[in-house]
Amino acid sequence: MVTAMKISKVLIANRGEIALRIMRTCREMNIITVAVYSEPDRLSPHVLFADEAYCIGPATASESYLRIDKLIQCAQDCGADAIHPGYGFLSENADFSRAVSEAGLIFIGPKPDTISAMGSKTESRKMMIAAEVPVVPGAAGAVDTLDEAKEIVESIGGYPALIKAAAGGGGKGMRIVFEEDELERALAAARGEAAKAFGDDTVYVEKYIQAPKHIEIQIIADTHGNVVHLWERDCSIQRRHQKVIEECPSPTLTPEQRSHLGEIAVQAAKACNYVNAGTVEFIYDNVENFYFLEMNTRLQVEHPVTEMVMGVDLVRLQIEVAAGQELPFKQEDIVPRGHAIECRINAENVYQNFVPSTGKIEYLSFPTGPGVRIDSGVDQHSEVTPFYDPMVAKMIAYAATREQAISRMVRALKEFQITGIETTVPFCLKALVHPEFIGGHFTTKFIETYWDELQKAPTPHDEEIALSALMGHVDNNNSKPVTRREAVLQEPSRWKMQATPGWKNR
Ligand code: ADP
Ligand code: ADP
Ligand code: MG
Repeated sequence: MVTAMKISKVLIANRGEIALRIMRTCREMNIITVAVYSEPDRLSPHVLFADEAYCIGPATASESYLRIDKLIQCAQDCGADAIHPGYGFLSENADFSRAVSEAGLIFIGPKPDTISAMGSKTESRKMMIAAEVPVVPGAAGAVDTLDEAKEIVESIGGYPALIKAAAGGGGKGMRIVFEEDELERALAAARGEAAKAFGDDTVYVEKYIQAPKHIEIQIIADTHGNVVHLWERDCSIQRRHQKVIEECPSPTLTPEQRSHLGEIAVQAAKACNYVNAGTVEFIYDNVENFYFLEMNTRLQVEHPVTEMVMGVDLVRLQIEVAAGQELPFKQEDIVPRGHAIECRINAENVYQNFVPSTGKIEYLSFPTGPGVRIDSGVDQHSEVTPFYDPMVAKMIAYAATREQAISRMVRALKEFQITGIETTVPFCLKALVHPEFIGGHFTTKFIETYWDELQKAPTPHDEEIALSALMGHVDNNNSKPVTRREAVLQEPSRWKMQATPGWKNR
């Protein structure tokens, strides 16, 4: 029998939007929030929001946000009961989870053994095969030599094949191989990238599924043996194997496919004694097969779309189950409502192949109004540095139907105003009104396939030129970015005509 513990003070071992997101729920639960920060983050919104804040080191993450010793010391010194790791950084580090428990603190996440089992793509594949969960056809474990790789490719029916880092994450350490001649070089390249990014050069080989959909299932499990799935998210809009736009529910999954996948995800969670929130990722070959990809043992970036549709607060649930409470619902109580879409707003220059765009934010104004949620980590005084993730905000549109959620997101993207840095706002707008996105049958190849259209800067005679000014990004003459306020002041007559522009694709 697990007795419930009281959590009254939480240290958030993270920064940016996710630190704020977690603190907001803590505040709603009357839990004291403790921020940690690196020197350049001294005046960041997450620091200013927290009840208490402590500096833990310089800019480099390995000297601050990744310092297990300092984080635990800090939690003990300030009397926190629990640590929430957010996503990224130490969230999927089994040593951290273990060290937190050994220090007598509650880790708001799964047990260390679960994290280490699921942290390795090769180990998790083995575990899933044993639990009869379908995995992408490929190697049973690590692949060490060229000959071994060749043998595996043969056993899965030939090329294309995908070399993946066992410790991979964030889309890193992957190489697609189309013919045998490329195999040796690709193996070396994947190994090199994996060593650099994860300090582990273990790789393996699986079948490369051409133009699949990425479908993932949110699960939540308590310490009393209850595991519930909260439907799926479709995260097929990706670039460089990283998600850009996500939605709940998937526009194409049938109810049968959904309950089938949900059951598999619960089975996968039970197979690794899962506790807390997690995500089971699958790829769908668009014919009939769903394959297990990996399990993310943490809160996912795109968790808000699930929250909107399911009417739950995943961070609250995480804290409650970490305190030993039973889940407040059973599978049959889950009643989804409406549709939610999320756009990741990254500080990136889309027109230069998504290179990070750093600098000081000069002007920032978020959309508001019905059904729009912004989870952001920056404010008007923020400086976007190259030290951390380029995601500055997530924008979520929620409405009764998918169609309405799309128009709402389009409206919100047009309202989003930011100057000083380039962002993915104009790109998301283009993607969202693309007929294939609207049709719902898009795959992970969407951005690559339509790249020419999607990356086109607005043309002078295009209605979008007005919208680009509205959004405050650069127009075709490469003039300085303008906010709507500045544009009205500069050219009041033109503006009057375009004050309520129609949107021709809708
Ligand atoms: P999600 O599946 O939640 O969308 P992403 O793959 O986009 O996750 O990654 C979420 C965050 O975690 C990003 O900030 C990414 O850079 C970071 N991240 C993911 N995996 C790793 C890892 N293995 N090591 C370090 N950072 C990671
Ligand atoms: P990460 O840990 O980096 O998130 P994943 O295994 O989840 O790695 O894969 C990230 C993305 O790469 C997937 O969403 C998918 O788009 C693509 N991908 C991964 N494995 C395959 C595969 N076998 N075939 C086709 N695409 C794949
Ligand atoms: Mg993944």
